[in-house]
Amino acid sequence: MGSLGRAAPPQATLAKPGQTPDTGRMVKQMDYKTIREVFQRFHRAEPEPKGELEHVNAYTLLVAVALSAQATDAGVNKATRKLFAVADTPGKMLELGEEGLVDHIKTIGLFRQKAKNVIKLSRILIEAFDGEVPNSRAALQSLPGVGRKTANVVLNMWWHYPAQAVDTHIFRVGNRTGIAVGKDVLAVERAIEDNVPVDYALHAHHWLILHGRYICVARKPKCGACIIRDLCQFKDKTQ
Ligand code: SF4
Repeated sequence: MGSLGRAAPPQATLAKPGQTPDTGRMVKQMDYKTIREVFQRFHRAEPEPKGELEHVNAYTLLVAVALSAQATDAGVNKATRKLFAVADTPGKMLELGEEGLVDHIKTIGLFRQKAKNVIKLSRILIEAFDGEVPNSRAALQSLPGVGRKTANVVLNMWWHYPAQAVDTHIFRVGNRTGIAVGKDVLAVERAIEDNVPVDYALHAHHWLILHGRYICVARKPKCGACIIRDLCQFKDKTQ
């Protein structure tokens, strides 16, 4: 979750722009020079950051991202390794059918609704998109179970468009550090687009998500191991 000891979604963790989700203290949007230094360090540490959802083509990436809502990437990968071995195209997914799909993904939260959506979106891909995954946000978001975040992940990871999908990790990191300050996920998405230098924009999503997942974690950030500690504005850094 996006804040200390709270279970509310990220949208609810900030009352005002510029307040960290953890403390409520004001954090200013980082200036250009500092934000550039942040991303230079991320780049030096990991020049080609990768997402952790396993996939073999655009379709399986779309399905994996749709399945990952409120689930861990590791949990999704465990289920999809066997699923994608038998259904890696919309046609094969329809052949597998909803109950067959449920059998593969029942370890993932909300699996019944997700199975319905994957079957529906597979049918729509065949009927309206020649079986291909579209590469516009509007077309992606017209598919069942595909919201702005899922569409942005597909645009970024498959089409290499610098779309910024903001999840709970990125929302927290952006507001704690000052890299991208905003009161809700859309505002943080805009803050990343507006402030991250364009040469770092494509990989910003993965640098921020991995930083939030492994270093700037929700409950006790690992500030002692953080490569941007001196640039971060968070007032309650750990030792
Ligand atoms: S110093 Fe701490 S709070 Fe700031 S980005 Fe690093 S881990 Fe997060």
